[in-house]
Amino acid sequence: PLVSRIAEGQAINDSHTKYQQHLFKALDIHALVSVTDAQGRITLANRHFCQVSGYGEDELLGQDHRIVNSGYHDKTFMRDMWRSIAQGEPWQGEICNRNKHGELYWVDTTIMPILGDNGKPVQYMSIRRDITQLKENENCLLTLKRALDASNEMILVTDASGNIQYANPTVCNFTGWSESDLLGNTPDILDSSNASKEMLARMQHDLLEDGAWRGRLLNRRRGAEPFQIAGQTTPPDERDYWADINITAIRDNEKALIGYVQIQRDITDQVNSEQALLMENADTTARLAISET
Ligand code: FAD
Repeated sequence: PLVSRIAEGQAINDSHTKYQQHLFKALDIHALVSVTDAQGRITLANRHFCQVSGYGEDELLGQDHRIVNSGYHDKTFMRDMWRSIAQGEPWQGEICNRNKHGELYWVDTTIMPILGDNGKPVQYMSIRRDITQLKENENCLLTLKRALDASNEMILVTDASGNIQYANPTVCNFTGWSESDLLGNTPDILDSSNASKEMLARMQHDLLEDGAWRGRLLNRRRGAEPFQIAGQTTPPDERDYWADINITAIRDNEKALIGYVQIQRDITDQVNSEQALLMENADTTARLAISET
């Protein structure tokens, strides 16, 4: 269909064969292409396949693709693949192969059975794209995510508009908000209504001006509002906690803002001790002042 759709939209004097030639040329540049007989013996290997696998065409022809088998996949992987294609069904998947120099490479693969008059495969065509770099990036990202997941600090990552894209398990466990509650929300979901408005405004200002802010804020966990008795003073909100917060802008190579990373730590005990010490000092000063008069 692709060939005929391209052909329909083109000048009439361009022959179908010419388009097919161009299509195959583009495919030849873009992909690793190989063809096998019904037993899986390679009958065609294009230049890109030779380059990526490190084998010459003469070394590949007549061989099974086992020549690039890396041993990464288990037996059921290949069995399932063969079951599909032997039944005349196309197969798609990511295969980890090994080149002639012993290095691993990944290919996003489509294997297309070519059926004979009896409806049984007489040949197989495989078209593959080298995705080694993508896989390496994916693994690198996965390692970074696992490191953030394992951190004892509470970590949030937002996009440039401040919408949470990542929240590590420590944030969820401590605040009581689930990952799905937090994702797509903004970090002010963690603000306490008792937080200093002045401090919040300074944070916004510093983030816009300098792309970074560090300070203490009164934050709030998820939970029910404290029970209040009419006519009585408001009780302290048990959901509130003091957080030492560090926010840094994340920028791309062109220095454009792509998001923020926020690392916070519960310092409620520390703040309470500091306040108790301050009160004690104030008390001593007051008593000294009285005794001196
Ligand atoms: P094996 O133990 O050799 O085979 C696993 C199971 O697959 C067997 O038990 C059997 O059920 C089935 N099987 C194996 N060979 C055949 C066959 N000729 N006919 C029917 N069923 C069979 N392998 C790669 O590792 N990388 C590739 O990029 C790759 N590309 C391929 C492209 C094409 C077009 C085709 C047809 C095959 C390709 N293969 C590829 C598969 C390859 O031919 C081998 O089957 C595979 O490498 C052997 O893996 P194994 O030693 O783990 O499994």
